[in-house]
Amino acid sequence: MHTGRHFLQIPGPTNVPDRVLRAIDMPTIDHRGPEFGRLGLEVIEGCKAVFRTGNPVIIYPSSGTGAWEAAILNTLSPGDRVLVAETGHFATLWGRMAAKLKLEVETIPGDWRHGADPGEIGARLAEDRGHVIKAVMVVHNETSTGVTSRIPDIRRAIDAARHPALFLVDTISSLGSIDYRHDEWGVDVTVGGSQKGLMLPPGLGFNAVSDKALAAARGNSSRRSYWDWHEIIAANADGYWPYTPATNLLYGLRESLAMLQEEGMDSVFARHDRHAAATRAAIRAWELEILCVDPYAYSSALTAVVMPEGHDADRYREVVLNKFDMSLGTGLAKLKGCVFRIGHLGHFNDLMLMGTLAGVEMGFALAGVPYRKGGVGAAMAVLEHTVPPGKHHM
Ligand code: PLP
Repeated sequence: MHTGRHFLQIPGPTNVPDRVLRAIDMPTIDHRGPEFGRLGLEVIEGCKAVFRTGNPVIIYPSSGTGAWEAAILNTLSPGDRVLVAETGHFATLWGRMAAKLKLEVETIPGDWRHGADPGEIGARLAEDRGHVIKAVMVVHNETSTGVTSRIPDIRRAIDAARHPALFLVDTISSLGSIDYRHDEWGVDVTVGGSQKGLMLPPGLGFNAVSDKALAAARGNSSRRSYWDWHEIIAANADGYWPYTPATNLLYGLRESLAMLQEEGMDSVFARHDRHAAATRAAIRAWELEILCVDPYAYSSALTAVVMPEGHDADRYREVVLNKFDMSLGTGLAKLKGCVFRIGHLGHFNDLMLMGTLAGVEMGFALAGVPYRKGGVGAAMAVLEHTVPPGKHHM
């Protein structure tokens, strides 16, 4: 029996603000009526501002995995070769999906502690003189590791190789938390999800698409129906969908987009940067290891902590859950038991961070994990010495 609020500190789904919950708690309306049309147009426009694009953003009633599949099925055909940067578990899963959809997947191996290497991607593309590679697939923020990849540098590498491959980017755990610019960075398909920086429950998937991606989709007759962009984009012109959309989640989306806009995207990113810096200060003070080894690639959405040798991260997480009613992220795939992840993204503030870090630190003592005291104090010092980016008690 726990009292007070559960601490949901996994790197998504994230805490849904009360404002968003209240917006969702409305009568479901006629999805072909005039009120819905206005809602549809409003959320589509609002999404464009968050993805930083003037092009269509397609919203699916789906998880992020569905939006991954939509990105592949619309632009690529069986037999096409794709280049996947193995940054962690989610990049691996996206590549595995491409293989299931009968694409030829070429992986650039990674150690799950660095971001995708623009130099390696550029070199591989430069070798591919026959332009056999049809797409480069990169996860912007690897949720399994807390490592980000430099999307603008990868774009420059593709351009320097004079390669026509499409550039597909997963921004599921970075959108609305870490700076991202679909148009400016020359991304062809950006994949998003509702349950992280957008502060919504799970259930919406997004594709932001470039003109080049739209042209590839028009020329691509590979099998798809539900995921096909064109019918959706046509219906979206008046704010509708060709099928029954997730009406109440779209009410929530309208509210969460308003919250992001009110705070200002730059303030949102600065808030996440500051909480991530404070989290890293705590980890260093505890004399524990951050999984990400490249300071330029530190994620502002989550931080993965390496457990000391001989200690199981999941047993530790279980102690924290039972004792403090806080969920921390598990280690995924080969990181199972070796790391736990602290989510500091979405609807979050200084005191939520301090509560989270206090639970983490108290959990070490209870679970018998060796650590040095003082992480919470170190994080507090970072917060005290950095100015909060405007008001963020939304
Ligand atoms: N890509 C990334 C980076 C993710 O973090 C996730 C989920 O956590 C996914 C893809 C898969 O999304 P979903 O679980 O919503 O299908």
